[in-house]
Amino acid sequence: MNINTTIDFNEKKGFVCDMDGVIYHGNQILNGVREFIQWLHDEKKEYLFLTNNSGYTPRELNQKLARMGLDVSEEHFYTSALATAAFLKNQAPGCSVFAIGEAGLLNALYDAGITMNDVNPDYVVVGEGRSYSLDTLTKAINLVLKGAKLIGANSDVSGPIENGIAPGCRALVAPIEMATGTQAYFCGKPNPLMMRTGLNLLGCHSAEAVMVGDRMDTDVISGMESGMSTVLVLSGVSTRETLKTYAYRPSIVLNGVGDIAAMARAHKKAE
Ligand SMILES: [Mg+2]
Repeated sequence: MNINTTIDFNEKKGFVCDMDGVIYHGNQILNGVREFIQWLHDEKKEYLFLTNNSGYTPRELNQKLARMGLDVSEEHFYTSALATAAFLKNQAPGCSVFAIGEAGLLNALYDAGITMNDVNPDYVVVGEGRSYSLDTLTKAINLVLKGAKLIGANSDVSGPIENGIAPGCRALVAPIEMATGTQAYFCGKPNPLMMRTGLNLLGCHSAEAVMVGDRMDTDVISGMESGMSTVLVLSGVSTRETLKTYAYRPSIVLNGVGDIAAMARAHKKAE
């Protein structure tokens, strides 16, 4: 089955792009990324770089890309921490939380008008990072037992680090679920909520937008379920082989984001 239907990227207004495996691997920028970002700027496209990592603030992500020689300003980043804060602000404006996580999560919550409370919070919110300990875990469990609702920033079970893997947010939330018999709600990808709030930020309708990612199980599914066109790039986790094992497919499969700019330019010339 040839799944490559063609997309005229010139006609799309907004681009939502995953980062790890799409823009970079670790601290290594991927091929074609510079050309892709230049094209987004030249064509005045709306765009968001998305990550499930809740630990970094948009400013830190801006600096990370700057170290790779890419100039992407803060408003172009959207993290699972920002999606979590947007969710809570919408569900319970002015609510209080007991949060376990890094600056990215804490800043996002403060910016959304949410206060910290370790006595009787409305929610326990968990992101990945080093502030997790037996003490914070125990605190979280007892607050959930007292009635706080349990929220995870994202449902990634693990993530790559230099010498192996680190437990992801899902794995950190699991002990709280087990000890309390409660199920957490997760705000990041693949929850389509993150795509919808991202599209709102871009001011785009889903039909005018494209989701670009390297994972079928988070990026492509959440883009597809939000009604966006989806691009699977083979520069990260998914391969042409693993792609066949899913019941859904992306709109198009490309080697990397550089192909988006190249295809759009070729399309324009052909007209
Ligand atoms: Mg990725």
